[in-house]
Amino acid sequence: MPLREFECERCGRTFEALIRHPEEEGELSCPACDERRVRRLMSAPAALGGSAEAGGGGGGCGGSGRFT
Ligand SMILES: [Zn+2]
Repeated sequence: MPLREFECERCGRTFEALIRHPEEEGELSCPACDERRVRRLMSAPAALGGSAEAGGGGGGCGGSGRFT
């Protein structure tokens, strides 16, 4: 989903808006003070740690000893 984050130039409020068409970005206004001058924030990707996959499974002993 093209969810973008914006900041109002007047009151400094940040808000998110769903931008499906580029022209929608120019139609935005601040939800708090209705200011039209908002700027898009750089959406920083969430810093995720590398997913560590623990490989399990020990080898089984398949030796069958026979005593006769
Ligand atoms: Zn505002």
